[in-house]
Amino acid sequence: MSTAAWTKEQVAEADREYVIHSWSKQGGLNARPIAGASGSWFWDYDGNRILDFQSQLVNSNLGHQHPRLVNAIKEQADKLCYIGPGFAEESRAKLAQRLAEITPGDLRMSFFTTGGAAANENAIRLARHVTGRSKIVARYRSYHGATAGAISLTGDPRRWQAEPGVSGVVRMLDPYTYRCPAGHPDPCPVCSGGPHLEEILQYENPETVAAVILEPVTGTNGLIYPGENYLRSIREVCDTYGILLIFDEVMAGFGRTGELFACNHWGVVPDILITAKGLNSGYVPLGAMTVSAEISEWLHGHKFWGGLTYAGHPLACASAVASLDIMDDEDVVANAKRQGERLGAGLAELAERHESIGEIRGRGLFYGLELVRSRETREPLVPFNAVGEAAVPMQRIVKAGMAKGLYLSANFNVMRLTPPLVITGDEIDFALEILDDVLTLADEAVT
Ligand code: PLP
Repeated sequence: MSTAAWTKEQVAEADREYVIHSWSKQGGLNARPIAGASGSWFWDYDGNRILDFQSQLVNSNLGHQHPRLVNAIKEQADKLCYIGPGFAEESRAKLAQRLAEITPGDLRMSFFTTGGAAANENAIRLARHVTGRSKIVARYRSYHGATAGAISLTGDPRRWQAEPGVSGVVRMLDPYTYRCPAGHPDPCPVCSGGPHLEEILQYENPETVAAVILEPVTGTNGLIYPGENYLRSIREVCDTYGILLIFDEVMAGFGRTGELFACNHWGVVPDILITAKGLNSGYVPLGAMTVSAEISEWLHGHKFWGGLTYAGHPLACASAVASLDIMDDEDVVANAKRQGERLGAGLAELAERHESIGEIRGRGLFYGLELVRSRETREPLVPFNAVGEAAVPMQRIVKAGMAKGLYLSANFNVMRLTPPLVITGDEIDFALEILDDVLTLADEAVT
């Protein structure tokens, strides 16, 4: 068998025939063969360079092929590729200790997984075991992963095909002020959090509720930032009833919002913190469940009913330790904040020219552009859960960006702008220029 590198045609053909891609109908997908990547850019076999304004799945936070990160993986591979989770191993122990130091409050022990979904899965199982209760409150505009429990926690339509899913998930509404489901009175019970949760608990019986899980800043479901007191009021209600609070920071964690953790913006500490993606920029699959000192104590007296062959994989843990070192040495969170301010200012200018921009939401490099047909009525450019023809107006913008060398993404009517945290000012300006151009496509629909 030949060991020669494949041509782009060979890659495309084998991919089309044999690879099942996530969340897609397979036939006409025609996934573009990618030849390489470096920093904030990737390129195809014809040398077309594309600025990765998504950080792939919002995980390539340190950009592509960071030499120190690649080297750390090589060094660990030379030393020890794998040892079972029952042994103590240096990279795993170092990473767990580091997380105890940098995560907020008294978060202490960590369980490592292969990604975000598996970490959420373990979080709800542990919460049920610790509290002896069964119900979990989760929000509608949320994504928590694609495994059985995580997709049941997920509120967005990706859940529908997996239903009825795991039992015991109770839904609450989101602090989505731009489209508040309660009409946003002042004060608003939904957007202020606690009162809405409190009401749900009274219907459900708070003594049956083990945990509330939420993304402190909502990622794929619209880049929704809560109001100033939202997380605090949720925390207070949880404390009143002995309910554990789980923050899913798989997307927002590790500097994405211009703070190391999104919850740091509001000074609210969860009982369980879930991270993945930016933990090691996705160089090797990894997720983490980090639990409070109290749960850590509890675990010393009780068995942890969970396990994975690849829990704490040395290559993944070594890459995460290196990633955290790089974040410190290169002042990555400060760059995210600085470049985020540049992006935010640029987007505000675009809003003066593009009537289709309904709202800009963002901090750090975690921005959403909500596109509308009318600023007055807020009619979305495409409806919620638009598929087929209905989704075309957003897809056209994404495609036009790609043709001009900018990798963008959209969920429903919200463009997600989430470049690598190492992006430069010139690269931000390049992206803004292309956005200025492609947003004219959305303006055409404005009435
Ligand atoms: N939680 C959030 C907030 C996410 O954004 C994602 C993935 O996008 C997940 C969980 C699932 O993570 P994974 O795909 O690594 O299982």
